[in-house]
Amino acid sequence: MTENDSPRHVVTRFAPSPTGRLHIGHGWSALQAYDFARENGGAFLLRIEDTDVTRCRPEFTDGIYEDLRWLGIGWGGLMIQSQRFAAYEAALDRLKALDMVYPCFCTRGDIARELAASLHAPHGADGPLYPGTCCNLSQDERAQRIAAGDPHSWRLDMGAALDRTGPLSWHDEFYGDMPVDPNALGDLIIKGRDRPASYHLAVVVDDAAQGITHVIRGRDVFASTHAHRTLQALLELPSPHYRHHRLIVDAAGKRLAKRAAGLSLAELRESGIEGLSLVQDLRASRFPVGIHLEHT
Ligand code: GLU
Repeated sequence: MTENDSPRHVVTRFAPSPTGRLHIGHGWSALQAYDFARENGGAFLLRIEDTDVTRCRPEFTDGIYEDLRWLGIGWGGLMIQSQRFAAYEAALDRLKALDMVYPCFCTRGDIARELAASLHAPHGADGPLYPGTCCNLSQDERAQRIAAGDPHSWRLDMGAALDRTGPLSWHDEFYGDMPVDPNALGDLIIKGRDRPASYHLAVVVDDAAQGITHVIRGRDVFASTHAHRTLQALLELPSPHYRHHRLIVDAAGKRLAKRAAGLSLAELRESGIEGLSLVQDLRASRFPVGIHLEHT
């Protein structure tokens, strides 16, 4: 990915969720987006992805600011998702008007029972796909259950979406052109029962609102990009370039958890390490003992 890939001014972002303290893998990810913007005379923006009101905490948001400052990573603009629920509602309304989403009344238990009873449940990147139970409800049944106050989420009708848009693809720096795979996530949740928007809807709306040209993020969310590209097409939003970078993993090859002991940026700071020397090490792909960059 170089500046010449895009005639647009380069804008990258780091978009952590404040559900715990950042660890060294987050620092590595933020640094890649920051360096790419700087190398191309572009802008690096920060977004706090705090739509999950039950798990996000203000002290973790403060921790993100503190950790990035310690690393010397400054941001040119800040967006906070908990202040943007109206924008997500508007996007959901658009998808409803296009008839691209449907209410889903299934509980986790309902879905598990349905999957257990089916012999050939298709699997996607995150496990078995939603079996489509509520996609088959009639319009009357949907309206009645909503009017009765039945708790529900909203799911993207992936089949209808791709019928509408035609074949789609997106571009990843490492993997090249990727045709959208409807079975990567299947009929994913756009708005959960207790959440104003899913990660997928919010990230698409906000990458566009912040004018992000290059999304640089970990491979853990690679499969989500199939859904993001679809939502961009339905909502008529631009599609950025993508770079899904390798993750930092432990000796067993497992990616670091938010609670990875001793590897949070706060703990590294408290152990006496200098932020700028950690940044130099990360830029040279030198990692503390016991962790390394996953193999390709
Ligand atoms: N909030 C998401 C995370 O922390 C961001 C993923 C992305 O960069 O799109 O995993």
